[in-house]
Amino acid sequence: MHIIGAGLAGSEAAWQCARRGIPVELFEMRPVRTTPAHQTADFAELVCSNSLKSDSENTAPWLLKEEMQRAGSLLLEIARETAVPAGHALAVDRTAFSRKVTEIISREPLIHIRREEAAEIEAGKITIIATGPLTSDALSQEIARLSSDENSARVLDDGNSSADVSRAGAPAPLHNLYFYDSISPIVEADSIDMNKVYLAARYDKGSADYINCPMSKDEYDTFYDALLAAQSVEEKDWEELNYFESCLPIEEIARRGRDTLRFGPMKPVGLKDPRTGRIPYAAVQLRQENLRADSYNLVGFQNHLKFGEQAAVLRLVPGLENARFLRYGQIHRNTYINAPTLLTPTLQMKSDPNVLFAGQICGVEGYVESIATGLMAGVNAAALATNSEPVPPPRPTAFGSLIHYITQAGPRNFQPANITFDLLPALATRVRDRKERHRQQCQAALNAFQGWWTQASPSALLNAR
Ligand SMILES: Cc1cc2nc3c(=O)[nH]c(=O)nc-3n(C[C@H](O)[C@H](O)[C@H](O)COP(=O)(O)OP(=O)(O)OC[C@H]3O[C@@H](n4cnc5c(N)ncnc54)[C@H](O)[C@@H]3O)c2cc1C
Repeated sequence: MHIIGAGLAGSEAAWQCARRGIPVELFEMRPVRTTPAHQTADFAELVCSNSLKSDSENTAPWLLKEEMQRAGSLLLEIARETAVPAGHALAVDRTAFSRKVTEIISREPLIHIRREEAAEIEAGKITIIATGPLTSDALSQEIARLSSDENSARVLDDGNSSADVSRAGAPAPLHNLYFYDSISPIVEADSIDMNKVYLAARYDKGSADYINCPMSKDEYDTFYDALLAAQSVEEKDWEELNYFESCLPIEEIARRGRDTLRFGPMKPVGLKDPRTGRIPYAAVQLRQENLRADSYNLVGFQNHLKFGEQAAVLRLVPGLENARFLRYGQIHRNTYINAPTLLTPTLQMKSDPNVLFAGQICGVEGYVESIATGLMAGVNAAALATNSEPVPPPRPTAFGSLIHYITQAGPRNFQPANITFDLLPALATRVRDRKERHRQQCQAALNAFQGWWTQASPSALLNAR
């Protein structure tokens, strides 16, 4: 079996195959060839935030993690081992996390690592493509070619425009595979002026792990004007920037109106300043990056500004006047396939069931969702390798809801999605209370999960750790 990409999805998939006694060749192009966002040669590198989202019981991200835990996710286990304080969220020390994944995958005898770029899919070989949003150009061409075998196959860039590969009669031009995404800046902890900021969690939920930079109206207005005046990185001719609504650069949000940021990433609600007892006019939140707590990221502050301009604007935030930046916000490509057209509920290609997709490229969005689809693809590919029939997860589960979304969403405007309650099916009887409704949805999901899992993964597993 081939697995291409040792990111979040590919590493989990390889582990799941090895646990089932299936030998794997795992291709990873770094460090021979790198991507615009990765900075190390480690597997499962987290390229932006260090958060694996909420760990509060009966939230949708919690449910997904709960199912992953029950299915024996290696990466989730390592995330818990390398967790840093982050209130009700599961956040990790990114370096420790990726190192540990690399270490464990590297010493697994059934996984043979090939540090090279895969540019072709070998015909007849069971292959999981888990090359992520920054899939190399050569492989993107190959995926376009594979997709063109489908009568109605399409590869999309942004869900609004699409190129019908078969109609074009040739692989789609590469730009039809591209989409842009943003990453937020990181500052050194000891460059934050702690006299101007305060620790608090929103609505005091969880421990007060976030640093909050409060702003008065005047400070906000000055910041806002500077942000709008700052220069963005120039787009190349062939690049048309299209953003996910949930991951907009701050300057793009600001362009929508003077107050829009105050209802988005600079939202002050629930962030009472203990020194004044008041909620500030606006606030910037900083989240701990690593166990040493020597760096913090500006939550939701992804942007497309030139680095110099970016530093000048962000230093207008109270507490960040002398901030030293370890990383600036940036914009990067996002590659994904039109899953509703191309994939079955077992993540296999309709046109070639030996080829499976996992991770961001299969149409999910987010670290945890990528790991979860890697887990499912690994289990399904292992079933194929032993001539068994892969069993798709039931609809009420978080696994099943993600799969349902990526295979059943409208293909015309398909966009990757995070796990949310919107993706889960409604309960048979209406429950008005939101909390209670979510609790019941989670309960139904976990009940359905248990029955499916014994069917989908019947054999005794090797524990190679
Ligand atoms: C800039 C950016 C910021 C993001 N920020 C967040 C965030 O803050 N939170 C969040 O939840 N999600 C974020 N995402 C989305 C997504 O969750 C991550 O990209 C996640 O890493 C996806 O996991 P993956 O396994 O699909 O891909 P990756 O983790 O990117 O793994 C893919 C691997 O494949 C390798 N590869 C690519 N092409 C080839 C080839 N031809 N041959 C061999 N190897 C190859 C790559 O080197 C990489 O190691 C972000 C995405 C981007 C691009």
